[in-house]
Amino acid sequence: MLSNSSIELDRAHLVHPVASWRGHEQSGVRLLKSAKGATVTDAEGRQLLDGFAGLWCVNAGYGHESVIEAATRQLRELPYATGYFGLGSEPAAHLAARLADRAPGELNHVYFTLGGSDAVDSTVRFVRYYWHARGMPQKDQFISVQQGYHGSSTVGAGLTALPAFHAGFNLPLDWQHKISSHYAYRNPVGPDPEAIIAASVAELRAKVENLGGAERVAAFYVEPIQGSGGVLVPPKGWIGALREVCRELDILFIADEVITGFGRTGPLFACEDEGIVPDMMTTAKGLTSGYVPMGAVFLSDHVYETIADGAGAAAVGHGYTYSAHPVSAAVGLAVLDLYENGLLENGRKAGARLLAGLQSLSDHPLVGDVRGRGMLAAIELVTDKERKTALPVSASPATRVFDRAWQNGLIVRAFAQGVIGYAPPLCCTEAEIDAIVERTRTVLDLTL
Ligand code: PLP
Repeated sequence: MLSNSSIELDRAHLVHPVASWRGHEQSGVRLLKSAKGATVTDAEGRQLLDGFAGLWCVNAGYGHESVIEAATRQLRELPYATGYFGLGSEPAAHLAARLADRAPGELNHVYFTLGGSDAVDSTVRFVRYYWHARGMPQKDQFISVQQGYHGSSTVGAGLTALPAFHAGFNLPLDWQHKISSHYAYRNPVGPDPEAIIAASVAELRAKVENLGGAERVAAFYVEPIQGSGGVLVPPKGWIGALREVCRELDILFIADEVITGFGRTGPLFACEDEGIVPDMMTTAKGLTSGYVPMGAVFLSDHVYETIADGAGAAAVGHGYTYSAHPVSAAVGLAVLDLYENGLLENGRKAGARLLAGLQSLSDHPLVGDVRGRGMLAAIELVTDKERKTALPVSASPATRVFDRAWQNGLIVRAFAQGVIGYAPPLCCTEAEIDAIVERTRTVLDLTL
C-alpha cells in the first residue's frame, strides 16, 4: 500500500487519541512501518531511536522472536477463550499465577483487562463492591493527586487531574477529590523531601476530615511516579507515609503502576522500591510490552476475600469479552521470561546511564530540572533558570521539540508544560542511551 494513500486515508477517517482533530486534518500523520530493538523505521525509511517506547509500553523493545512465536502459537491453537461460564485458558492461568508470585505482599489475585484505563475502572468498581460488602456503602468518596493520570474512561478521567481530560466532557466529578502533587521542582513548600512528605500527609488528613471523616472515604489513588503529569518523582518515603495514613484510617490504597510496572523504574514493580504493598495495583503497558493489548488489576487477599464473601454464590457482575485473552496472556508469559532473563538488569544499568547522561545537560541554559528513576526520566525546560519560567514545548510552534527530535532521529515526548519525557525500551545498549542524550543536546541547542 502506498504510504501517501495511507496518509490520506488516515487523515480522512482515523480519529487519533488525545489529538487536535482539526490539527490532524491539516498536518496528517507520520506513519511508522517497522521496528527492531529500540529503533523504529518510518514509511520513508527514516530510522529513529524510540526514546519513549511507543507510549511508555514497549519495555522489552521491538521484534523479539520469542514473543512473536508465543503469540503465533497461541493464535493457531486457541485464539480466544472466554472467562465466562466457568471457562478459561492455560496461558491466562499461568500468567496470573506467575504475576501473583512476583507481586509484592499479598497481591495474590489477578483480574485481566484490555489496558490501563479499564484496569483503573475495574478498581473503582471493586472498591465500591468492597465497601458495600463490608456494610459501609457510604464510603464512596475517592481521593487522588494533582497532576495524576489514571486513564481515559469516564471514571478514570475523573481521577485524572490533567485539564485536557476534563475540559468539555462534563464529567461527573462530585465523588472524587485531589491533594497537591509532590512535584519537588515547583512545590510551594520547597524542595526539601521531609517538608514535602509532611505537607502531603497533612493535606491528605485534612481532605479526609473535610469530606466528613474516614467513614466517607473509600480509596486513595497514586502513581508511584507521576507519568503523564510530567514524570514527577516523589521523595523517597512519600508513598510509604501516605500508605500508612490510609492503613490507619481504613482507606483503600491503590497504586497505579500502568507506567511504572514491569521494570520501568528498575524492579518489576515500583512499589518494591518503596517497600510498600497496596491494597490493589493496576498495570498494563509493559505487561505485554505493547505487542498486544492487556492490563491487569492485582487484588490483595483481603480485598479479594471480602468481595468473594460479600457476593457469596452470586456473580460479581464485572467483566469484559476480552478479559484474560489467551493470546495476550501467551505474550505476557513470553515477555515475563524476558524480564527475568536479563532485561530488568539491563534496564537498571541503562536507566542509570540515561539519568547520568541527562544530568550532564543540566548546565545547558534551557534545562531547569532533570529527574527520573530507572528508564523513566524527564528534563524540564525553562527560559529563566532563576525564576523557573516555563518554556512551552508542544504548545508553541516556535519550540517544536518533538519535531526537532524527530528530524534528529529521536522520538521523545514533548509535554505542553515544557517537559521532555523519556521512557526508552529496557533493552537499550549503552551506545543507544548515549545517542538519546547527544540528540537531546542537539535539540536543545536548536531550541535556544
Ligand atoms: N494509568 C496510568 C498511570 C497511565 O499512565 C495510563 C496510560 O498512560 C493509564 C492509566 C491508562 O492506560 P491505557 O492508556 O492503557 O488505557
